[in-house]
Amino acid sequence: MTGEIWSLSKKQANYRPAPRKDVRCDVCRFMFPPLALGGCRLVRGLIQGSGTCDRFTPRRATPPKA
Ligand code: SF4
Repeated sequence: MTGEIWSLSKKQANYRPAPRKDVRCDVCRFMFPPLALGGCRLVRGLIQGSGTCDRFTPRRATPPKA
């Protein structure tokens, strides 16, 4: 994954406004800091907390518990 740092443009990642709260950049593990405005480890440029992209990954991986 480290080889992927800033490897994508917003266009490549299909960065766009998030349609739902649970896929926002500010809850994605790649955003830093996870605030209204910040950066992303994968996608270059200024990232808005209210955006999302095809590489969205939840910050907290919550494996289903039995
Ligand atoms: S949703 Fe995409 S652009 Fe937003 S923080 Fe995650 S990887 Fe970066």
